[in-house]
Amino acid sequence: MAGGKKSFQGSILLLVILLLICFPAGLIYLVIKWEEDTTSVPMRTCMSCGANIPVNYNVCPHCGKATMPEQVPPQA
Ligand SMILES: [Zn+2]
Repeated sequence: MAGGKKSFQGSILLLVILLLICFPAGLIYLVIKWEEDTTSVPMRTCMSCGANIPVNYNVCPHCGKATMPEQVPPQA
């Protein structure tokens, strides 16, 4: 009877170890993916104040001037 209980505890220990390994790895993966998503937005420089603004902005959030339309590659 003791043998069955021991193997059950062993599988739990294995699961805990797997979780301990997978949890930080998953977190790192999520952080990297999130950073890729936020940095994938193409930026350009405002003609009026020189601030970095996303290309999809029609008005500069820093100086309020309308930005010049640029050739933006269409997103698939
Ligand atoms: Zn500006």
